[in-house]
Amino acid sequence: MMIKFQVSKTLQAKIQKGHPWVFDYQILGQTPKEGNPGDLGIIYTSKNKFLAIGFYDPFSDIRLRILQWGTPLNIDARFFEDRLQKALTLRSSLDNQGTSGYRVLNGENDGFPGMVLDRYEDTAVLKLYTAAWVPYLADFLDSLASTLPVQRCVLRLSRNCRTAIEKISSFREGQILFGPRLNSAVCFRENGLFFEVDVLEGQKTGFFLDQRENRQRIRPLARDKSVLNVFSYTGGFSVYALAGKCQSVLEIDSSPLALKTSRDNLSLNFPAIKPGQNEFQQIEGDAFHALRQLRDRKASFDIVILDPPAFAVKKKQKAKALATYQRLAESGAKLTRPGGLLFAASCSRQVSAEEFFRAVFSGIRSAGKYYKETDKTGHAMDHPVTFKEAEYLKGIYLIISEGGKETH
Ligand code: SAH
Repeated sequence: MMIKFQVSKTLQAKIQKGHPWVFDYQILGQTPKEGNPGDLGIIYTSKNKFLAIGFYDPFSDIRLRILQWGTPLNIDARFFEDRLQKALTLRSSLDNQGTSGYRVLNGENDGFPGMVLDRYEDTAVLKLYTAAWVPYLADFLDSLASTLPVQRCVLRLSRNCRTAIEKISSFREGQILFGPRLNSAVCFRENGLFFEVDVLEGQKTGFFLDQRENRQRIRPLARDKSVLNVFSYTGGFSVYALAGKCQSVLEIDSSPLALKTSRDNLSLNFPAIKPGQNEFQQIEGDAFHALRQLRDRKASFDIVILDPPAFAVKKKQKAKALATYQRLAESGAKLTRPGGLLFAASCSRQVSAEEFFRAVFSGIRSAGKYYKETDKTGHAMDHPVTFKEAEYLKGIYLIISEGGKETH
């Protein structure tokens, strides 16, 4: 079914510039009550000219996700294959860098609205954020099988579309869409290092692929350094620091499962290093509490990594999130040795890069320390961003000192 829409002039202008979403409240006139997920929605201008075509989803606040601007065309296996091929070309250099785990499709930003596809060597993980993909999944999987050298594809459903998808189709969270059953953890390489990932139970699609470039930056900086990896998850930054020949790593995370996988990742790469030895230690528990305890013990580190979960997913959480980033930076700065490096990252969509950096600077000042900014980072090339709302990741590298001048 085709559903026609009109939207305000302001939104039209935004869409013309590439904005890919129409929320339910932005549709002019009567919102169509009928229509199934995946029906095609067409937006016309006020002069009745074709503007864009997209996926309609009556179960989502984002009622329409745009697939194609300007010219109407057939949405079929060929269409998906062309776009997949384009996305793969963009990422083709990664294989030569010893990386077999990366994001293949970053949703709207790669022309696949409401869909993320991550590759972990032989296994693809398809994560859906809208039920609109249901009628197209068979076509999409055909395109996938012919373009991506994987032997298996696992389906993950985001919390907000899982109920709808499981109601209207036989697709299920965690289903193997094709390929052999999963009997053990999936292994992949990132910059020549080895990682295990739990694609069924892990966060996101199992691994924070988005931090690859930051991990790689830490690697050469870590030589002979003591490293504190706060919110360490499955040990990504730790493995890189050890590969860079750091002196020691201390991880803090509240998830026993993440810490266990981190130990597995340690032994995959450095079988001679045993957890609990000086080189590699873990604290299981709340990071804020653990940071206070380390401070009480007068501990300090050459490199402190702060890569917490998103504190602000919704707008109303923003103020609290900023206060938390500030508090965290304060604790991190107190534990950073003079001349040491503090790396702070945020993946909160509701917090802009500028706001985050300001919170970090305030935190360092509250700790009575000074900072010199050496770098700011954003999205890696396999996580492209084509519209403002898609931007979430920001990171900052700061040299901490007891005195001196702030520079940024
Ligand atoms: N830096 C990681 C990704 C961090 S994801 C990487 O490169 O892979 C966020 C992590 O924070 C998760 O592992 C989660 O278990 C942990 N976490 C969330 N809240 C926490 C808290 N209050 N204290 C400690 N860890 C927490």
